[in-house]
Amino acid sequence: MPMAEGAARVAGATDYQAGYGVRPGRPGPRVAFPAPRPSPSGPLGRVPGGTRPAGPGPALLSPAPAQAPLGPAPAQAVPSRAPAPARPGPAGPGPARPGPARPGPARPVPAARQGPVRTGRPWARAELVLGVIAAGAVAVLGLWWADTPRVSGLGDALTGAGRITGLLAGYGVVVLVALMARLPPLERGVGSDRLARWHAAGGRYVICLVVAHALLITWGYAVTAHTGLVPEAGTLLRSYPDVLMATVAGLLLVGIGIISARAARRRMRYETWYYLHFYTYLAIALAFSHQFADGAQFVASLPARFFWSAMYVVVAALVVWYRVVTPLLQFTRHRFHVIGVRAESADVISVYIGGRWLDELRAQPGQFFRWRFLARGLWGQSHPYSLSALPSPDMLRITVSLRGDYSSALATLRPGTKVIAEGPFGALVPERSRRRVLLLAGGVGITPLRAIFAALPPGRVTLIYRASDPRDIVLRDELDAIAADRGGRVHYVTGTREELGGDPLSPQYLQAMVPDLRRHEVYLCGPPGMTATAIESLQAAGVPRGRIHHESFEF
Ligand SMILES: Cc1cc2nc3c(=O)[nH]c(=O)nc-3n(C[C@H](O)[C@H](O)[C@H](O)COP(=O)(O)OP(=O)(O)OC[C@H]3O[C@@H](n4cnc5c(N)ncnc54)[C@H](O)[C@@H]3O)c2cc1C
Repeated sequence: MPMAEGAARVAGATDYQAGYGVRPGRPGPRVAFPAPRPSPSGPLGRVPGGTRPAGPGPALLSPAPAQAPLGPAPAQAVPSRAPAPARPGPAGPGPARPGPARPGPARPVPAARQGPVRTGRPWARAELVLGVIAAGAVAVLGLWWADTPRVSGLGDALTGAGRITGLLAGYGVVVLVALMARLPPLERGVGSDRLARWHAAGGRYVICLVVAHALLITWGYAVTAHTGLVPEAGTLLRSYPDVLMATVAGLLLVGIGIISARAARRRMRYETWYYLHFYTYLAIALAFSHQFADGAQFVASLPARFFWSAMYVVVAALVVWYRVVTPLLQFTRHRFHVIGVRAESADVISVYIGGRWLDELRAQPGQFFRWRFLARGLWGQSHPYSLSALPSPDMLRITVSLRGDYSSALATLRPGTKVIAEGPFGALVPERSRRRVLLLAGGVGITPLRAIFAALPPGRVTLIYRASDPRDIVLRDELDAIAADRGGRVHYVTGTREELGGDPLSPQYLQAMVPDLRRHEVYLCGPPGMTATAIESLQAAGVPRGRIHHESFEF
């Protein structure tokens, strides 16, 4: 069956309604955890570690629930075709909507908006975006070319090289900011993780250009003026307009480059690095005016000044619009709020987020939002978490591994807490295809794949879920229910390599679990090491690189 038919089959039905999700019942004002769904018989049906705290209080997860057993023979690949658990039936009165944020009635959703798999390729593909960036760089070189009738002598050549590197640096910073402006076509077409990688790599080039610009210009002027580098640098700083400010800007950029180097970043809290990174905006502002005051290409050309300014103004407007205004508009329109928190295991929780008219967001399975929970100690940061179930018009769900301070604090969220949700973002969205699909998850990387699993057409999907420790497997009852209902296969591959007698991500192992592997479309999400190994093995097994789609949980 082509994927589009499968999409149509589930269109309009959320996977909560299909019975895969643990849709919170009406917890009432004193119950923090959503009610667990009816447990299917057997140990596989138990919610791992999920206990419902008795008594009132916020959604606290302490004391930590004991780990429930996850099923037999954990240290081996266990193909699962669990019987479908009893469906909870209609969701009853629906989720509790605490506080004033009570959403209005869900509007009817136009069918065309509901397809859970992507029906068209986003236009902003990586190659196209890189092509546009390269074309811009060529245009910048054209600016220098048009203004430079000839180059004669060493001084001229050095100065010319200095101007080119300066122009490219001025263009490069705008591109770097645009990549991080959270433009929806880029986020969906290229993917946030790839944009972040481009931004990081591009940042290194731009800093090199800035340094080269300063050195070459100084050297070129020194050669022309028959003086030394140091006296010429002094002259430039004292006598040329805005060069001092530009120098401070350059030093700021170099500093940001140093703290962004992997070794330095590892020693720093993410938030410290993140907020220091904002000094880039100050650096850009400080450096702007010297371009028009000293740049030969701009001094004499009004059109050049106009287009250059327009480039900066447009990108600044996009940043403000998409990073500040859009999230606030979404907040007021959709009224996101926490419905409840549910324990999935000792260190994984699901947070249910209610709102109204959420279908307008056109979130797709596999995508993520940046969540800012407006609770004490949390409102100052936004963190990315993927949707772990198909979105519905009035509810979204994320599943969070309690690995650091912010994630752990989410376990204490109270129902009714308001949330600013920025998104949806991410390009790990299943595309319309006739191929069979392999979903390959490692650890908490299961979250986007869990949502994709529920969206794909029946009978064509295999899920491999890798975790060293069987206690790290979460959402197992839901995965089994989806597999049973839709004829998919799930392999839980738990245990260390030693216990398994080899690497479970080797081409041979994967081929044994997935017959005809090379004909599959693969969606992959897991830790960086696992992702790299899996991509290598999949390619060795004959899966073309273009059919391996992956997302990293690290920017
Ligand atoms: C696209 C995407 C989707 C994700 N989906 C999920 C998910 O569904 N479930 C889940 O458990 N985790 C998910 N993560 C990972 C999650 O965002 C981080 O684990 C979390 O932000 C860590 O914050 P912390 O304060 O708890 O941990 P910390 O110990 O402070 O941080 C651990 C690491 O997480 C990253 N990180 C920290 N803060 C941020 C931030 N504000 N923005 C981006 N990265 C940050 C950094 O790499 C940092 O080194 C996702 C990450 C990305 C990029």
